[in-house]
Amino acid sequence: MQHLIDTDDLTDVQIEAILNDAARFKRRRPPALLRDKLLITLFFEPSTRTRSSFEVAAKRLGAAVVHLDPSRSSTKKGESLEDTFANLCAMEPDGVIVRHSRNETPRELAAMKMVPVINAGAGNYAHPSQALLDLFTMKEYFGDLRGKKIAIVGDIVNSRVASSGIRLFTRMGMEVKLVAPEPFMPQSDLPKYEHLEAVLDDVDVVMSLRAQLERHSKPIFDDYGAYAKHYCIDKARLGARDILLLHPGPVMRNIDISDEMLSDPRCKVLEQVRNGVFVRMAILKLLLLDS
Ligand code: ASP
Repeated sequence: MQHLIDTDDLTDVQIEAILNDAARFKRRRPPALLRDKLLITLFFEPSTRTRSSFEVAAKRLGAAVVHLDPSRSSTKKGESLEDTFANLCAMEPDGVIVRHSRNETPRELAAMKMVPVINAGAGNYAHPSQALLDLFTMKEYFGDLRGKKIAIVGDIVNSRVASSGIRLFTRMGMEVKLVAPEPFMPQSDLPKYEHLEAVLDDVDVVMSLRAQLERHSKPIFDDYGAYAKHYCIDKARLGARDILLLHPGPVMRNIDISDEMLSDPRCKVLEQVRNGVFVRMAILKLLLLDS
């Protein structure tokens, strides 16, 4: 039984297969490969893109999807997460897609060995489908990513997108630079910078991240306007540089990225969302059909 808790659950061959299948699905919509399959989505944290993207991906492949809203489920009556999960598995779905604020939850559910578990975001630990769609988006633009340089900018320490991205991008031979004010900077051996200006002449990609306010136990900055003066990606800062701009969403406009840059052709935010569906189709195919 294959799970996807983080991308290190995948072999290089499997990652290659996901990227190739996603590219194929983008060129031509595939037949209903998962016609007889059923997926359950179980999201304990809010989601706009990831949940709908998995649902669209599953439906495009002909699978059925059932969504359980934990805020209206027996979790509210005191049922444990493990019991809720076991009860859902008793209905024999082909996979459960889970999002939770705890880093360990998807792996613990996978260890119950009941159905394939797909991590759709766990705490600040991992968001593998986002890392794969970011990889796909960069690969589509550059071809070979070996030696390409990416600056990850913002609340890196609290971001599961950054955690998964750092592991996957370095594995793929990219150079990762971290740009953040001290409270947002994780412990890391990667090169660290406080100022964006120090890296902009030496990167191919900038990935901007929002402040993960829901994970701050107390406010870190009172004034995100002042933060934006240093970290917002705007035209004045980027100039004419040929840099690909990524963000996993939701974008805090004019704090993470300026309105003007959001409509600049170098900004691939909506392309990431579009690619996310094809990449998740490829993930579902791999886990439910090919493994
Ligand atoms: N949507 C991404 C996540 O779930 C990024 C974010 O929320 O900032 O981690």
